[in-house]
Amino acid sequence: MKLNRIAGLALFFVPVLLHSQNSTSIAVITKTLSLPRQKVEVWIHTAPKDGPVFFNMHDDENTSTEAALALIADSGGTYIELKHTGARNISFRQRRKRYTFDPNRIYTDEGIRATLEKNGPYDEKAHRAVRRFSDNLLELVQRVSPHYIFTLHNNTPENLMVYSFVPGREYEADASEVYADTTKDHDDFILVTKKLFFDYYQLSGYNCVLQNQHPTNDGSLSVWAALNRVPYINIEAEHGHVEEQKDMMRATYQMLQHPIFGIWLQPRK
Ligand SMILES: [Zn+2]
Repeated sequence: MKLNRIAGLALFFVPVLLHSQNSTSIAVITKTLSLPRQKVEVWIHTAPKDGPVFFNMHDDENTSTEAALALIADSGGTYIELKHTGARNISFRQRRKRYTFDPNRIYTDEGIRATLEKNGPYDEKAHRAVRRFSDNLLELVQRVSPHYIFTLHNNTPENLMVYSFVPGREYEADASEVYADTTKDHDDFILVTKKLFFDYYQLSGYNCVLQNQHPTNDGSLSVWAALNRVPYINIEAEHGHVEEQKDMMRATYQMLQHPIFGIWLQPRK
């Protein structure tokens, strides 16, 4: 079963490229995931030094790319990003129709249906194509990052912020604890699924949200992580806040220095 799934992956490998960032050579492997009449590239940037793996699924969130490439060059680790059109959403064509989805709403069937319906037509065949895409993407990400999922996102001011999760606000029902630090911009925050992570970031003075065990099923990767009990951290910064995002990432590296996380940082076999 496992072998069949891997054989069915629409992936092909492109030779390793190298680019230089802060005088450190970061290797890049490119893989391609297929949708009907659409290709989505997955770029996996890996620094020579081991470190955490960060994943950015939105092609228009380039502050995350800038922060991640700088951080892994300095401190080690891997950065995975999707590349297609430079837009947030991904479109494909099937039977003369154009379907569009948000790549952060496709990790449950409820989410796939809702995001296709929100952005255009919906039918079962399109649903299956998106499901295959999300399965292949998750398998690829989990092959690189088997113990946890750390994501990077960027937002626009007042769109999504740490206060979105406090009582009376839009995502109140999804959070069990929220810490807002008065010295930090409320658009820069970290959403986590483990109390241990929440406590660390709170004590370190970062805006943070502890997602509860049964968040609203919108198909986002944080919901998938909760359902599958995969430790999850989302480091979310306002567009342009490269230094703030790097700062939150650095705190994550420091947290992972603790011996209980040691196994996560060992080289992949
Ligand atoms: Zn995003």
